[in-house]
Amino acid sequence: MDFSSLFRPGIRATRPYTPGKPVSEVQRELGLDSVVKLASNENPEGPLPAVLEAIQQAALQINRYPDAACFKLTNTLAKHLDVSPQSIIFGNGSNEVIDMLIRALVSPGENVVYSHHSFIVYALTTSVHFECGRPVPLDANDKHDLDAMADMVDENTKLVLVCNPNNPTGTYNTIEEFDRFLARIPENVIVGIDEAYYEYVTAEDYPQTIAMMKKHPNLILLRTFSKIHSLAGLRVGYGVGHPDLIGELHKTREPFNVNVLSQVAAIACLENWHEVEGRVQRNREQLDYMATQLADLGFAVVPSETNFILVRCDGDAGKLTNDLLQKGVIVRPMHAFGLGEGALRISIGLPAENQRCLDALKEILS
Ligand SMILES: *Cc1c(COP(=O)(O)O)cnc(C)c1O
Repeated sequence: MDFSSLFRPGIRATRPYTPGKPVSEVQRELGLDSVVKLASNENPEGPLPAVLEAIQQAALQINRYPDAACFKLTNTLAKHLDVSPQSIIFGNGSNEVIDMLIRALVSPGENVVYSHHSFIVYALTTSVHFECGRPVPLDANDKHDLDAMADMVDENTKLVLVCNPNNPTGTYNTIEEFDRFLARIPENVIVGIDEAYYEYVTAEDYPQTIAMMKKHPNLILLRTFSKIHSLAGLRVGYGVGHPDLIGELHKTREPFNVNVLSQVAAIACLENWHEVEGRVQRNREQLDYMATQLADLGFAVVPSETNFILVRCDGDAGKLTNDLLQKGVIVRPMHAFGLGEGALRISIGLPAENQRCLDALKEILS
């Protein structure tokens, strides 16, 4: 029985997502005691003590379904962002909100515009949903080419996805670029701005999109607890948009999509928001250090506003990644993403982890 022929063409043509190798797998395969993972843009700092406490208490209730409406979490976040609770939808990671948007908006024959060199989930999700994706190349500086993306929008476009700052390049688009872009996008096209790395950004001309929503009600922002808040393993993210838009999206949400432990953990993060500043600072110090050191090693370094850095070497990123793996350092090669043969994405880890990556690179390159 050829099961693949039973599935829609878009699904047959799609290859499953391949994540960065887990530490345990690399340890097992290579017989290494200590392995450093700088591959998935996770926060190298563990969860806050308040998060662990909240999870411990809530664990006693996991025989019950979670609050489907995420009432307390939604209200806590609404206060924090100064928006109405009706403007917020939570997902099992912001991935799920991206998925909801595409499934809810796009009928066969309609399309989604996004950047070809951006979060791989846009390509995957549009591929399985009627092959509705319309990828646009980045500009020469590895930034979203917002003019080219606006050019690509036609009468069948339902959604434009912009990742700002962008994964995997770490680049960002400015307020001015966004103003020009949004002025060109018709009101009946939804613009999803993926701000998974929002908290890490320090650039002053980075757009504050919640304020922009007044003028552009077709905007929806996507943010997550996976990165700055260290909850990648719990899966919780959210969208912020016009209450009527969010109301429609709620219809496509699975009834209990955010679990009991994730809800209390995310609330604890919001109640301890003062921890964010230190996390951003420590990341920035290491980011700057890595950028300088990698440039000294001969890499072309793309300026980053995130917790990862895209670099290019003269050689083959696939081979370099494998050489690093042999030394117990996991990074992510990007040559398959059309970013050049030598493109490599390295997440910022703890100081000792970053140093180990640099030392391994020095050995390999000498
Ligand atoms: C990490 C990341 C996310 C977050 O996904 P979650 O499902 O919330 O873990 C979303 N978008 C981009 C671009 C990311 O890099």
